Amino acid sequence: MRAGFPAAWLAECARVVAAERERLTALDAAIGDADHGANLDRGFAEVRRALAAAPEADALVTAGTTLIRKVGGASGPLYGSLLRAMGAALGAQASPAEFAAAFTTGVEAVARLGRSAEGDKTMLDALWPAARALTDATGPQAPSGLPAPPGLSGSLEFPEISRLSAAEVFGRAATAARAGAAATVPMLARKGRASYLGERSVGHEDPGAASSALLVGALETVAD
Ligand code: ADP
Ligand code: MG
Ligand code: MG
Repeated sequence: MRAGFPAAWLAECARVVAAERERLTALDAAIGDADHGANLDRGFAEVRRALAAAPEADALVTAGTTLIRKVGGASGPLYGSLLRAMGAALGAQASPAEFAAAFTTGVEAVARLGRSAEGDKTMLDALWPAARALTDATGPQAPSGLPAPPGLSGSLEFPEISRLSAAEVFGRAATAARAGAAATVPMLARKGRASYLGERSVGHEDPGAASSALLVGALETVAD
């Protein structure tokens, strides 16, 4: 993973959140207070400014701190914690497996701060499947799609065969996150504003899960 990867990812997050701002707000209008798109767009615009002002600083930690400071809604501290915990866990030149571990550490920070779990109809319903997909795709037994040569254990003798490209790894994570976001539609919200609606939260996609799918999708876009 190249050294500038986190900054490139955050720039792409800012772009895609701005492009999808209205859809995120419409989702939040159905089961929240109609500000999720505006919250994130404003937050990531501030992230862009903060990264430009401090190019030498740790991009993930800077971005996380900025989101915590500048976004009023629940999503600011939650995404801020994700990025700060990731940044703290990630070395400058991380392998894909190390990136997967850092992402998982970030998702754990969200779960801790939100006191929430998968199935509560939140961003975690997209983030946890993405974390698992990253871990599975970068683990020692990562499926390559190619059968091991007969009589050889492929991953030991042919490490390059068993390794997926960064684009493939992030593509799997993005697919998992999108499926996770779609799976929030029939869920009953147990955390955040949507939980105030009780049964009326059923039948709508969670806005935070939708934005998480965008952020994970941005990883695939900038992977090389
Ligand atoms: P607010 O609800 O304060 O207006 P946003 O609209 O920006 O904040 O973000 C709402 C999203 O935040 C929800 O769709 C949900 O995914 C996420 N969220 C809210 N509370 C929690 C929580 N306790 N744990 C995890 N995610 C949460
Ligand atoms: Mg809201
Ligand atoms: Mg709000």
